Amino acid sequence: MLEIVNNFINGEFVEPHNKKYLDIYEPATGSVYGKVADSSSHDIKRAVESAKNAFPYWSGLYMVERGEYLKKIAVEIKNRSNILAKYESRDTGKPITLASKVDIPRAIENFNFFANFSENFYFESSIENEVSINSVSKKALGVVGCISPWNLPLYLFTWKIAPALIVGNTVIAKPSEITPYTASKLAEICSDIGLPKGVLNIVNGTGRIAGDLIVKNKNIKAISFTGGTVTGKKIYQNSFDSFKKLSLEMGGKNPAIIFEDCDYESMLKTVVKSSFTNQGQICLCSSRILVESTIFKKFKTDFCNVISELKPGDPKDDKTEFGSISSESQFKKIKHYINLAKNESGNILLGGKAIQLQGRCKNGWFIEPTVIEGLGNRSLLNQEEIFGPVVTIQSFKTEEEAIEIANDTKYGLSATIWTNSHKKSNRVAKNIDAGVVWINCWMVRDLRTPFGGMKDSGLGREGGESVLRFFTEQKTICEPK
Ligand code: NAD
Repeated sequence: MLEIVNNFINGEFVEPHNKKYLDIYEPATGSVYGKVADSSSHDIKRAVESAKNAFPYWSGLYMVERGEYLKKIAVEIKNRSNILAKYESRDTGKPITLASKVDIPRAIENFNFFANFSENFYFESSIENEVSINSVSKKALGVVGCISPWNLPLYLFTWKIAPALIVGNTVIAKPSEITPYTASKLAEICSDIGLPKGVLNIVNGTGRIAGDLIVKNKNIKAISFTGGTVTGKKIYQNSFDSFKKLSLEMGGKNPAIIFEDCDYESMLKTVVKSSFTNQGQICLCSSRILVESTIFKKFKTDFCNVISELKPGDPKDDKTEFGSISSESQFKKIKHYINLAKNESGNILLGGKAIQLQGRCKNGWFIEPTVIEGLGNRSLLNQEEIFGPVVTIQSFKTEEEAIEIANDTKYGLSATIWTNSHKKSNRVAKNIDAGVVWINCWMVRDLRTPFGGMKDSGLGREGGESVLRFFTEQKTICEPK
């Protein structure tokens, strides 16, 4: 029996107007387990009407009242976290332990964080001088759109929705059509905790149709998007007619820069994680490993040895450390890049093939963790985002050379630097074109800090006060003194 994911509009689950649905796959088995609404213009209009109607009441509440709703949502996600982790693992192919330890806890944290942090966000302030008294106020934008990708489904969906709601906006949100299931469970939670109707509307469907309609709708005042750079560019172009505020979080080609004088064991363990967590399908994963030439040989051996110990398997199994690729198209894209490496005379040090599991997962989309050397930085494998379990390794001789290679792509999302020299790490960090730089760590970050990419990796910043400013409009009223 196939599971059906409908839209959530005005507090109710509704079929798409055209009654069309898309298949939802379980990537670990390669089989269809459900159907998701393939929304069209009627559904988007209906969702926008519902969000518009809900706006006066929702934006008129005190922020602490909205915060109470967010906290209730967080409590319910926590109460249902085991089942949500199972659903997230089924949709994405990520190991259940990863969904339980990272994805679902972070969704809880997103709601709690914005409920609490936003208490320090001032809606009113005043500036006076000899001639004028100026009062500055901030207000919610109105109806806003949140569009998210498949790699961290509930994690990134809620990272947008929570800040949009806390400052008083009402929301039209579209999860990825590849991984829509936990978003529909979030809708159930919103209904169960009594979130006022129309405050959060979840519409499903393709980016080409449903996403595009959200972007072009003139009643939607802002789009917060996370996804690929090509899509981000389309959204930028397609929103010009309605002067929308845009926040675009896009792709990356993140370097890990490893100096001889680092804490070697800690570096090795973390670089394996930063390269292959979620099968390399995290925008912040290291995909270009740059190693000081003096330790290059040793690093190659040790790196491949540690990676070989990762246990691939059924994502449902809590012993599995390495799951499947999230879709067939992504699986094919990754294989294409591995073949390209062979044509470009790359040397595959480890992996390079599909993994053939037995039993339930025999038709799943699994690829070995793959390490490639011998490609110059201008190779497409070092320039284009692969978004899978494939890393390249290159050596460098000087700090300047490392910085030059690191910056030599169109992307600028994140970087990691490994050295015990405080002076060196700070010098390199300052010179790297990336929105987030980690020194001797990875994925350690305070949610109050701005998050986002430079160059083709991003426009705008999420997190902390940056995102609250994004989701509000400022007004200045001046009077003579
Ligand atoms: P994608 O761009 O294909 O899709 C992302 C979302 O946009 C989906 O919901 C999709 O339906 C929608 N969409 C597609 N075309 C659209 C259009 N024309 N108009 C409006 N919406 C449209 O990305 P993906 O394949 O789902 O995700 C992988 C990408 O996301 C990678 O490039 C990865 O680096 C990036 N990503 C970035 C971050 C970050 O914070 N910078 C985080 C996670 C993922």
